[in-house]
This record gives sequence, C-alpha cells and structure tokens, in this order.
Amino acid sequence: MKPLGPIPAGFAVSDGELVIAGCKASALVAQAGQTPQFVYDGALVAQRIAQVRTAMPPGLGLHYAIKANPFAPLLAMMAPLVDGFDIASAGELTLAQVAGMAAARISFAGPGKRDAELASAIAAGATLNLESVREAERALHVANRLGVTPRLAIRVNPDFALGGSGMKMGGGAKPFGLDAQEVPALARRLVAAGCDWRGLHVYAGSQSLDAAAIGAAQAATIALAGRIGEQAGVPIPACNLGGGFGIPYFAADRPLDLGAVGAALGEALERRPTELAKTAFSIELGRYLVGEAGVYLTRIIERKESRGAVFLITDGGLHHQLAASGNFGTVIRRNYPVAIATRMDWPVTEEASIVGCLCTPLDVLAERGGFPRADEGDLVAVFCAGAYGASASPMAFLGHGPAQELLIAPER
Ligand SMILES: *Cc1c(COP(=O)(O)O)cnc(C)c1O
Repeated sequence: MKPLGPIPAGFAVSDGELVIAGCKASALVAQAGQTPQFVYDGALVAQRIAQVRTAMPPGLGLHYAIKANPFAPLLAMMAPLVDGFDIASAGELTLAQVAGMAAARISFAGPGKRDAELASAIAAGATLNLESVREAERALHVANRLGVTPRLAIRVNPDFALGGSGMKMGGGAKPFGLDAQEVPALARRLVAAGCDWRGLHVYAGSQSLDAAAIGAAQAATIALAGRIGEQAGVPIPACNLGGGFGIPYFAADRPLDLGAVGAALGEALERRPTELAKTAFSIELGRYLVGEAGVYLTRIIERKESRGAVFLITDGGLHHQLAASGNFGTVIRRNYPVAIATRMDWPVTEEASIVGCLCTPLDVLAERGGFPRADEGDLVAVFCAGAYGASASPMAFLGHGPAQELLIAPER
C-alpha cells in the first residue's frame, strides 16, 4: 500500500460522512445536482488569514496571489480580508476589480505582458511589477500615450532561491524579474521618468514547508533590497518579500511552523538596513491561504478488478485536479489526502487505486491506497483542492466538461 497524504484540519464526520462547513458531502452533491464539484470552506480561509496576521510582524502587508484560486465568489469574500491581490494577467486584473479590490492594492507580475495588458493595468492604476528593462520601456511608452503616471515596481531575480521549495522561481537564469545587478540603474531611470515609483518585488519560490529556509530567503531579500536602495540612491517605498509558504500534501510532509516564520521575519525587519527604514513590507501567499480549505468531490462510477488490483473509477479526474494526479510540478508521484467521503469512519479493508474517467494512464487520483470497501455511488474526497485545482487543470481535455465550484461563505 502507498500512504495517503494528511487530511487537513477543519473537516468533520457525521454518520460516516465527510462534513464540509457544516454540510454533509452527499447533501452538497445533491444541492449541486451533479458531481464532480469543488467545495471551498470560506470560514477556513478567513481563519487561515487571521492566523497569518497573528503570526506575522505588525504592519506587514498580506497579499493574495489569485492564481492559486481565482473563483469569483472566493475573491469577493477575500478582498476585504487581505491588503492586496497579486495578479498575473489582464484577465486576473478584471477578476480582482470585479471582486472589489481597489486598483491601488493590485500588483501585476508575470513575464510577457502584452502592451494591451500594460495599458489596462496603467489605466486602472494597478502597480506593475516590471520583469525586464524592455518591459519597463514599453510601460513608460504606454503610460505616456495614455497620459497617466504609471505605478511601477521592479521584480528582482535574486541571486538565491527558496530552499526546500517545490518550484524555484529565483536564482540563476530565469525569465522572471531583472537580474539583481541591473536593478539600481532601472530604478534610477524610472524615478527620473517621473513614474509613481513603488519599489521592489522578489519572489524566490513556492511550496516550502521549511520555516528556516523561508526565514533565510526573507532575510536575504531584505538585505538585497537594502543593497539595491543604497546602490540606486533612490528610496524603496515598498518591498514585496514574496511568499512560498507551503501546505502538507503528502504523508511525509509536516506543516509549516508559521510562528517561527513570523518571529524570524520580525527580527530581520528590526535589523533592516537604514535605507529601508520607511519601506512598507508585504508578503504574497497563494496556496497557503486557500489550498487546505477546498475539497474536490467525485462519484465512483464503477468498481473494477484487474488482475487482482481494485480500481475505483470516478466521474472526476486530472481534467479538474491535475495536481492530485501528480502532473503539476511534481517529480515523483505521491498520493494527496484522499478519502471515501461516504465511508469516513469505516475501517480500512483493502488496497485500491482511485482513478479518473479520462482515457490516459496519467489519470490517477490515489494510487494503491488503503481504503474501506467502496462501491458504485460512493463519493470520493480529494483534499488540498482549494489551490491550483479547477483553474490549473486541463478542463477541456477529453471533453467531460468543467466541475462545479461552490463557496460556503462564513457566517457573519
Ligand atoms: C505563483 C505565485 C505566487 C503564489 O504561489 P503559492 O505557492 O500559491 O503561494 C505568488 N507570487 C508569485 C509571483 C507567483 O508567481
């Protein structure tokens, strides 16, 4: 048997059934009228935001990177709870604005911004995190054409990466950001051009569970920002330190020690270089805020045995939950937390693989896990489905259609 990932806290069981935000899985599916379905527990998201606020140093800005989950009702719920949304396309700009986020609190990173995207962001008053000198020139040109003072920051490709992280997005040669040594000259150029200069953005990696590694990356980022400020001879009004806070997906994963991250950051900020005395610092989190609050529910269509192995074939699959299948940025396939949602407290009696309905051997939701005996009609829950699920999966692949999404908003 292969181990299953740890089921996140915050879910209950009643009459043998998984309960999400007070609702039984079967009731949620009945209400939706179909499977598969993503269900997001808004109260868990709000609770996670509150935990981060408590653990981090006072005054630190908390942004949500909406690519983790851009479901419109979720964004509308989160907009008043965080200090900003970080976006990576004009489409996400629209989503952020529709959710009610003020443009001054939106920052736009990402390589390959089209002129039309630069124009929409500048016209709206969002901050552009410039990814190259060339992009800076295009942004100034577009702003000039529009007659608008652009809000501009520089994304720095640091000379280090986030340790223990799933996806390294800084250090070495990268399509993201300006190599650190190019930044001071561009900062001077932007200030001289009369833009609304917003400072620096550094993003060193994603999905790290190692508090010491995150602390080291944040301290290195603060030092780097100080050096850039000194070399450029311009103030650094704001500095987005990135994030990379991970969540436990797999059996060996241990949750991030949020308190340790906050304490280390507090110390690093206290010791920050004098160039940064007035800098407003922020972090940007995606999956850490929403990942564990989402569950993907799918129904078993058929129980099948092949040469002694049991396959529970569901009506869902990698077209909705690519990450659980192991095909989104993982090297070795391991099992997410997965359970039979309609037999939650039943004893484990067999080894089974839970697969999707796509005609490809990649479509595995749980490989040779230990489960209670499940049959046609039972519901399967894939946990940690709140980030990089619906929007990060190849929905059109094989033509089964999209999954429904439901936010259960917190009681007010
Ligand atoms: C993807 C991304 C994030 C969010 O990453 P998570 O792992 O979901 O926290 C934040 N910032 C930038 C620049 C990103 O590209």
